[in-house]
Amino acid sequence: MLTLALSKGRIFEETASVLAKAGIKPLEDPEQSRKLIIATSNPEVRLIIVRASDVPTYVQFGAADFGVAGLDILLEKGSEGLYVPLDLGIARCRMAVAVREGFDYLAAVRQGSRLRVATKYVNCAREHFANKGVHIDTIHLYGSMELAPLVGLADAIVDLVSTGNTLRANHLVEVESIAEISARLIVNQAAFKRKRESIKPLLDLWST
Ligand code: AMP
Repeated sequence: MLTLALSKGRIFEETASVLAKAGIKPLEDPEQSRKLIIATSNPEVRLIIVRASDVPTYVQFGAADFGVAGLDILLEKGSEGLYVPLDLGIARCRMAVAVREGFDYLAAVRQGSRLRVATKYVNCAREHFANKGVHIDTIHLYGSMELAPLVGLADAIVDLVSTGNTLRANHLVEVESIAEISARLIVNQAAFKRKRESIKPLLDLWST
């Protein structure tokens, strides 16, 4: 049995269409069903539906053999115990620094003042600003980062930006790009060795 960890939404949909090439169809739609383990038309493949940020954890511990996770989450949490063979090119966006319109970011950075940065990517933010020699205090949030600079919780945010519409709607501007992000296939290293015969044909689906 192979277990594939996925998050709902775009990653599930795009992965389902790749699996369909091998005739593997989920027997339920996670948007409709409350089931967290979803059987497929192939009795040897099942899907587990988890939060996007939990996908690497399930795969690292071997509770799932493989999964699809955003590079943002892998950069933040590390990829120990994972084999990351493929950039799937889906769920593309960028991790960026944004501030309120009118906030003089360059001056704040130049003056060496301590920036307060709100983000769910605390490790990525620390590394980015440390490389620039900028001191920051991080404020760990779990969502709606865009609100933080508007109500005085932070000077800047580190978040994912796709179209830029969310920033614009909240009068924020992107001032630095940190990394280009897309979804990656991740495989448990031990499972890759033990179950190579059954995993390999599925990996090949994404490479073709
Ligand atoms: P946008 O308005 O298109 O720039 O999208 C920005 C919002 O969507 C932010 O709240 C982001 O956290 C979220 N977002 C954008 N792209 C992604 C992605 N690939 N994966 C997860 N969240 C994303």
